[in-house]
Amino acid sequence: MKSVHIENVTKKFGDVLGVSELNLEVKPGEFFTFLGPSGCGKTTTLRMIAGFYYPTTGKVYFDGQDVTTLQPNKRNIGMVFQNYALFPHMTVDENIAFGLQVRKLPKAEIRQKVDRIRGLVHLAQYGSRKINELSGGQQQRVALARALVIEPDILLLDEPLSNLDAKLREETRVEIKRIQSELGVTTIYVTHDQTEAMSMSDRIMVMESGLVKQIGTPQEIYHRPNNRFVATFIGETNMLEMKVTSIKEEVITVEHANGLVLHGLSGGKADGVAPQVGGTIYVSIRPEAFEAGPGDNTIKGTIEFVEFTGLSVNYLIRVNGTSLKAMIINGGSDIKAIGDDIELHIPSRNLYFLAE
Ligand code: ATP
Repeated sequence: MKSVHIENVTKKFGDVLGVSELNLEVKPGEFFTFLGPSGCGKTTTLRMIAGFYYPTTGKVYFDGQDVTTLQPNKRNIGMVFQNYALFPHMTVDENIAFGLQVRKLPKAEIRQKVDRIRGLVHLAQYGSRKINELSGGQQQRVALARALVIEPDILLLDEPLSNLDAKLREETRVEIKRIQSELGVTTIYVTHDQTEAMSMSDRIMVMESGLVKQIGTPQEIYHRPNNRFVATFIGETNMLEMKVTSIKEEVITVEHANGLVLHGLSGGKADGVAPQVGGTIYVSIRPEAFEAGPGDNTIKGTIEFVEFTGLSVNYLIRVNGTSLKAMIINGGSDIKAIGDDIELHIPSRNLYFLAE
C-alpha cells in the first residue's frame, strides 16, 4: 500500500477547467472518497492518478515518487469502472486472470492467486461461469477481483455501485469495505452518493466546480462543514442568512429578515468564522437539531407537512413566513396535523455558524 500525493494540480480541457489547483494527501491503507455533484472533477482527478490524463500543471506522487507522466500500466493500480468493463463471453476466472496473464506469471501461480481472490469476493463456486450468466452484483465482484488480483498498490473505484439496485448497492457497499479493510489496500473511491461516502470512507474530499470544498472524516464533514455547499450537500439542513445583532461572552444573537431571533454559542462555528455585530452570517440548523416543546430558541409555527417514519416525526413548519424542516426523534406519542400550531425549540449548541 502506498500514499498518494497530489500537489497543486490543474487540469484544463481547452477552455474547460476540469480541476483547479488541487492539493491532496491520501495515506497508505486509507479509504478515501471523492464526493460531489456531476461535473465537479472527481473522474478527472481519478484519471490523473491512474495516468489516463496528465495534469496541465502540478505533480502526482505515489509514496514520494513522481508519477505525473508515468504510463498507466507502470503504476500498479487496480481499477473498477461503473460499467465493469469485463469480457462478457469469457468465464469469471478468465476475466480475473487477465491482468496476471498480461504480466506473464506462471500458470500455477495464476491459478492460486485467482482461486484466493475469487474466495475473497465470495464467488468461490463461480469460476467457470460466463460473465453474461451472472447478476449485476456478481459482475461487480468479478470486476473488483480482477482489479485486486494483481495486488495493486492503489485501488481506484469509479462509481462502482451505480448500476446496482438499491438493496444490492447497500450489500455491495459493505462487501467492498470488508474486502478493502482485509487487504489494507489504499483505496480511492468516486461517488456522488453521500450515503456511500459517509458509510465507507476514512476521509472524504467534497468537490464543486473543479474545486475542493472540504477534506475531512465523515464526522467532520457532517458536524463541522466549512461552508454552505458542504453543509447542504451532506445531509439535510435549514440554511438561514441572518444578521449578527449582539455578541456577549459565549452567546451570539442573530436575527433573520423575517424577524426570527436565535441565540447560538461561539463554539458552534466553522473554522475561520469571526462574527461581527452588524455583519451577515449563515446559520445551519439540521432538522434533528430541534427538540419538542419550549426551551432555548423557542420556535412557534404552523405545520405545513408532517410524516411519521417510526424513528422520528418529520415536520415542515411555517415560521414568520419561512419554512423550516424539523425532525423529532421518538416523537411518536403526540403527533400533530397539518394546519395545527406547534412549539419546538433549538438548543443553542445546535446552531452552526458559517461565513460563506
Ligand atoms: P460525473 O459524476 O458526471 O462523472 P465528475 O465529477 O466525474 O462528474 P469530470 O468528469 O471530472 O466530473 O468533469 C469535470 C469537468 O471537466 C466537467 O466540466 C467536464 O465536462 C469536463 N471534462 C471532463 N473530461 C473532459 C474531456 N475529455 N474533454 C473536455 N472536457 C472534459
